[in-house]
Amino acid sequence: MRETLVLNASFEPLSTVALRRAVVLVMQEKAVVEQSHPGLKVRAAQVELPVPQVIRLRRFVKVPFRQRAPWSRRGVLVRDRHRCAYCGRRATTVDHIVPRSRGGGDSWLNTVASCAADNHRKADRTPVQAGMRLLAQPFEPTPADALLLALNLRDGTTLPEWLPMPSAA
Ligand SMILES: [Zn+2]
Repeated sequence: MRETLVLNASFEPLSTVALRRAVVLVMQEKAVVEQSHPGLKVRAAQVELPVPQVIRLRRFVKVPFRQRAPWSRRGVLVRDRHRCAYCGRRATTVDHIVPRSRGGGDSWLNTVASCAADNHRKADRTPVQAGMRLLAQPFEPTPADALLLALNLRDGTTLPEWLPMPSAA
């Protein structure tokens, strides 16, 4: 898998991202290519680009969460790619695995994306009590994931995958 180093606008290294995401950032004019692999090209949206080794963000991004991404409802939906953790259909709500009324908090590991129907069905119960099974375990986004969240990459078209992906080259 090919990875691209991302520099802040200040040239400070931030993270590495998968090549495909680096290309998206360049195409969206959120980053410029600082260094590319000689002789290698990647095709994206009918444009041929040199394969970026290093890109630099055009705007300075404050990264207070180098180790930990701040929790947010939107972040949970993006992390789970808007897929319900219980049925896999489109999710529009965030479910607390251990309900807040039972002491469950707003944290990456206690929240999952959920469709409205499942969220309603589960109500004020844990998954075990509700007889519902999580299709995947929630996880805390890595610094690279957090960076992409901060850059506001939204839906499936611009943020195709959370997990490492094969090289697009
Ligand atoms: Zn569901």
